[in-house]
Amino acid sequence: MDGFYGRILKVDLSEEKYSIEPVSDEILKKYLGGKGLASYLLVELNPPGVDPLDPANSLIFATGPVTGSAIWGSCRYGVFTKSPQTGLYSESYAGGKVPEAIDSCGFDAIVIQGQSAIPTVLGVNPEGVDFHAAGDIWGMDTFKAEDAVLERFGRSGESVRRRGAVVIGPAGENLVRFAVIENDYWRSAGRTGVGAVMGSKHLKAVVFQGNRKRSLYDANAVSAFSKKVSLEGKDNPGAKAYKSMGTTMMVKIVNDAGAFPTRYWSEGKCEHWEKINAEALHERCQVTPRACLKCFLACGRMTTVQKGRHAGLKLEGPEYETIYAFGGLCLIDSIEEIVYLNDICDRLGMDTITAGNLCGFTIEAARRGKIDYKIDYGDADAIAELLKKIANPPNPPLPKGGEGGIFPFTKGGQGRFSPLAKGGRGDFEDIGDVLARGIKFAAREWDLEDIAVHVKGLEPPGYDPRVLKGMGLGYATSDRGACHLRATFYKAELSGMIDADVIEGKAKLFLDFEDRLTLFDALILCRFYRDIYPWEQLKEIIHSVTGLDGDQKALQKKARAISDIVRRFNLREGMKPEDERLPKSLHRKLEKTGDIITEQELDHMLKDYYSLHGWDEQGQLSS
Ligand code: SF4
Repeated sequence: MDGFYGRILKVDLSEEKYSIEPVSDEILKKYLGGKGLASYLLVELNPPGVDPLDPANSLIFATGPVTGSAIWGSCRYGVFTKSPQTGLYSESYAGGKVPEAIDSCGFDAIVIQGQSAIPTVLGVNPEGVDFHAAGDIWGMDTFKAEDAVLERFGRSGESVRRRGAVVIGPAGENLVRFAVIENDYWRSAGRTGVGAVMGSKHLKAVVFQGNRKRSLYDANAVSAFSKKVSLEGKDNPGAKAYKSMGTTMMVKIVNDAGAFPTRYWSEGKCEHWEKINAEALHERCQVTPRACLKCFLACGRMTTVQKGRHAGLKLEGPEYETIYAFGGLCLIDSIEEIVYLNDICDRLGMDTITAGNLCGFTIEAARRGKIDYKIDYGDADAIAELLKKIANPPNPPLPKGGEGGIFPFTKGGQGRFSPLAKGGRGDFEDIGDVLARGIKFAAREWDLEDIAVHVKGLEPPGYDPRVLKGMGLGYATSDRGACHLRATFYKAELSGMIDADVIEGKAKLFLDFEDRLTLFDALILCRFYRDIYPWEQLKEIIHSVTGLDGDQKALQKKARAISDIVRRFNLREGMKPEDERLPKSLHRKLEKTGDIITEQELDHMLKDYYSLHGWDEQGQLSS
């Protein structure tokens, strides 16, 4: 079938074996690629109830039918697994250049199972895989690891069209529940702990190299479509804003709306917003736009700190979400310090959204006398120190099957009891040990479940649902926990497409966004092209790439098939109706403004949403 390779690669790290298997057209027509195919494989291949850190948990890399084509926004890959952060469905996406290297290996999906006996780098090519001992790079930060593996394999262009690597940092090796997989130095598959799953398999890096390309149903149509989009896109005000300011433009927009999570979710407006917004970044640092392959939006910021103690520090970022997490939740009032904390997370391989949330939560725990630890709002050095402790906990969790191996997983034994927590369980004396296990664990440990902000174990990004109520529906129902990307409904609410306060009828528009973006993830397309590819354009892309026809209704049916299979996975893995609720503290009024989302308002939207999906009132599938 055009647009697909029609084959998947299955790798067993335990046995150092692999197989190449066909995928039927029937499956591809039903689920497309990317999220659709990977979710189908996850349901089929994962043993029900498997521990996320068990060798049997599949780690699936997928590209989509548009990857490698001229379609703008097409250079992305997805990682799919069972999350060690939520115990449920995990998906995470990243851009850069590496997605085309993954795709050039000629597989619709690459499924990695098992656990290597020693630290390993996996080489993937169109004919199969090779296994390389990687003891010498185990322990390296993500940047050094990426350099080291590409040095070993050679860089793109030397003998193959595309070559690139994905890596984990120390956090992934130590099974920190929110460890990321990184590529192109600064691009991260950042949410739900995919890096910890890779670490549990003792897999430090995967290098992809190949020369394959997908066959397109109508290559001329793809090329004409892309030309048209770029010509029209040049004058698109949204495109111009992304290029000139990147996602940092959201600081002002969200703060003006009163939805900028501040002081660990207690306020919605940040007093020092002008010190951490787009202007602050662009005036105080040297910044140039940077793009993934096949992108004219160029939302990335290549930033170099100009002055102060971090002068010379260079990275791609910070993104809006990192600014909100450290600048809002932790009250860091300097853009340079946020760049610094961003850099630490990148090197250690940790998700900045969860990291900032956990630091804010720790500050509250210290202020409330729940822990004896010196940290406070605005203290960048204490936060930096905490991040390092989290990534290198003395008693990291053990991967299943890792006991007794050659790895120094335990430095002092498991389960030491201590008086660090007052009133909680007090299992661990080291704060890194507690936080490395994620917010749910820390909240129980410190007896602070009442204020912990997460859904299904995943902390929300930077849009307060007490103001943007549709985001509340998004956080409650997203497959992977509190996620802004499933429907990106902040866009609809902040742009005035629908009143942020309205409840009646909101689920209908929400689902329209969700369906379209589910197809984005099946193709796999960048979210920021959502205004450029409404339904008509999406239809054109799918037809020209795969030959599949269908009006909006037919496409929505495909999206729903994907949503259903993911829900089936989550229900099978133990998701309960009460998991699809907001945390208690988000039903309390925001300080200063008094904004609130009530449980009744959320219930109303949930009921509508489930009904539109064809699920029962508890969100269960009918069969
Ligand atoms: S808009 Fe940003 S994330 Fe999306 S493809 Fe372009 S540079 Fe990459």
